[in-house]
Formats: sequence, C-alpha cells, structure tokens
Amino acid sequence: MSIKQTKMRAVLKEKAAPGVSFKQVPIPKPQKDEVLVKVVHSSICGTDISIYDWTPWAAGHIKPPQIIGHEMVGKVVEINTKSKTNIKIGDLVSSETHIFCLNCYQCEIKNYHICENMKLFGIGRNGAFAEYATIPLRTTWKNDPKIPVEAMSVQEPLGNAVNVVTKANVKGKKVLIMGLGPTGLCAGMVAKAYGAKEVVGVNRREFRRKLAMKIGFDRVTDKLDKKEYGTFDVVLEMSGNRLGIQIGLDAARIAGKIIAFGIPKENINIDWGKYMINKELSIESVFGRMIWETWKDTTKLLVSGKVDLRKIITHRFKLSEFEKAMKVMKSGECGKVVLTP
Ligand SMILES: [Zn+2]
Ligand SMILES: [Zn+2]
Repeated sequence: MSIKQTKMRAVLKEKAAPGVSFKQVPIPKPQKDEVLVKVVHSSICGTDISIYDWTPWAAGHIKPPQIIGHEMVGKVVEINTKSKTNIKIGDLVSSETHIFCLNCYQCEIKNYHICENMKLFGIGRNGAFAEYATIPLRTTWKNDPKIPVEAMSVQEPLGNAVNVVTKANVKGKKVLIMGLGPTGLCAGMVAKAYGAKEVVGVNRREFRRKLAMKIGFDRVTDKLDKKEYGTFDVVLEMSGNRLGIQIGLDAARIAGKIIAFGIPKENINIDWGKYMINKELSIESVFGRMIWETWKDTTKLLVSGKVDLRKIITHRFKLSEFEKAMKVMKSGECGKVVLTP
C-alpha cells in the first residue's frame, strides 16, 4: 500500500527538558522485519507523565529527539519482511512494549518480557503518539476483531493487571488492591472476572474510588481500618507508594501473598524479620506481560465481555490536544485517557 503523504504529526520529546512538542516529522519507513501502521488510537500511560516531566528515570532512558507513546492500536499499511508472518495489510494490531532480543538467556527460557537487552517501544525507540508508527514484527499483536477498537489501545495496562492477578491466583480469595490508577482499576475488574470472593480498593482520590465502585469493586476506602476490613489473602501492590506498601504488608494475613507491581520513586525499607520471616509473607513481582500468554488471556476477557475497558476510559482527545490530555492525566481526576490522531 502506498501512502501519498510524506509527513505526519507527532508528539515529540525534542529536548532533554520537561514538556513535549507537537510537530510535523517524516513518516517512518519500516526497517527489516517491521510493520508500518496508521495509528487509530493511543492511550497515555503513567510512564508518559514521567517522560513529560523529564524525571531522572526518563533522562536515563530517552534520547531526544524522539516520538513518545507506547499504548496503541493501528492498521497495518506496510510490512517489510521476507519471513513468514500471520500479519496482513489492513490488520488492526497493537504493540507489546517490551521489545526482546531473542539472543539472551531470558529469551532462551521464554522470559521474553524480562529480556536482558530489552528495548521499550516509545521509550528506547520512536513510539505511537503520531499518525504512523513502525513496530518490530516480533512484538506486533494481531487483535481479535471482536474487541472494541478503542479498548484495543488499552490492552498493555490491562495485560499488566492480568499478569498480576494470574500470579496471585485469586479464586475464592479476599483481595486488597493498593492504588487505583488505571492498572489497579483493571486489576479489580480482572480479579472479579477470575472469581475473587471480595475485592477492596484503597486510594486517596475520591474520583478513583467512585470509578472503582462503578466497575465492580466490592468496597473502596481511603483509610484501611483493620477492625472493619480484617486481613487479606492477597494484596496487589499497584501504588508504588511507600505508605501504600506499608499498609499492604500489614493488611496481608499470615502467610498471605503480595504481588508487587507499582514502582516506587525512592528506596523502600521494610521490616524483613517481621514480614518475610515471622509472618511468612510471599512476595512476587510482575514487570510487564508474559509474551504472548498474557495477551491471549487478555483477549479472552475482552471478547467474552467479562472485562469492558471502555468503562475505565474517561477522557478522549485529539492527538493535537496532547497538552490538555496531559493536564487531565496529571490531575488524577481520570481513568484512562485515549488519543486519536
Ligand atoms: Zn503503559
Ligand atoms: Zn533477550
């Protein structure tokens, strides 16, 4: 397929400083074993706020100028490969953010999501806040057309939640979710879909607590009172917040399970003897999605309607309104924010 345009609009991290630029740039050419997609929707991630603000983490991971954005759905317009592939022109595809190398030990044992030489889409290479994007074929996911198109752009955070909840094995259990950002909210929907007995969410913001109740949490609170709530079989630590982590450790029952997902911005001290030894807590961590097992599970949840991602999409903007969208993201008065080029 040929594209007549040669330029496209994109959100660029242009300088090693806070902020972004909205500019005309050349439409990228797909390199060997890559596809070119016309972006249909993208969604803003917490990571994109760090990139916007130019935190030390962002400064260590991004080399400006670069197009940002990693959560997306797009239509394939060009495929550059000599290898066999199930991807066809016109397919609606999404990208797995963790671009693996296929050469390291973790890739050899199929832990592609924690590849030793991992590159991140929209972080270590150009991303999807643009009219067009290139994606390596090996991290291109062909979407089931039965899934609502808007929801396709939010599968990356939903996938994180699916991986977290799967590791926790929540069926019949009492589950506490610390932090109700989009991934925490998704984790609640997934935990209910996977048969959790009770799902309680903790968040400071009333907006997020209200949204959680709308999408199926059993109870929400900003103050977890032990007398009222008791202890929990499973704690999903989605906040990455020092106080949240401490509350989670205390709220877990003896020999309970904690799944760590939220990334703290500071060193965290925990009383190792009290929690790890005397209380026999087990802590597992999740970084990303199992490739492609999690995506397959995510598809099942979306196709069956057990999880409807449109319930957590609270704002929609044109790509050109990126600054407005970022303001909403930073306010915290939102669920998922979706962009359309
Ligand atoms: Zn993300
Ligand atoms: Zn690797």
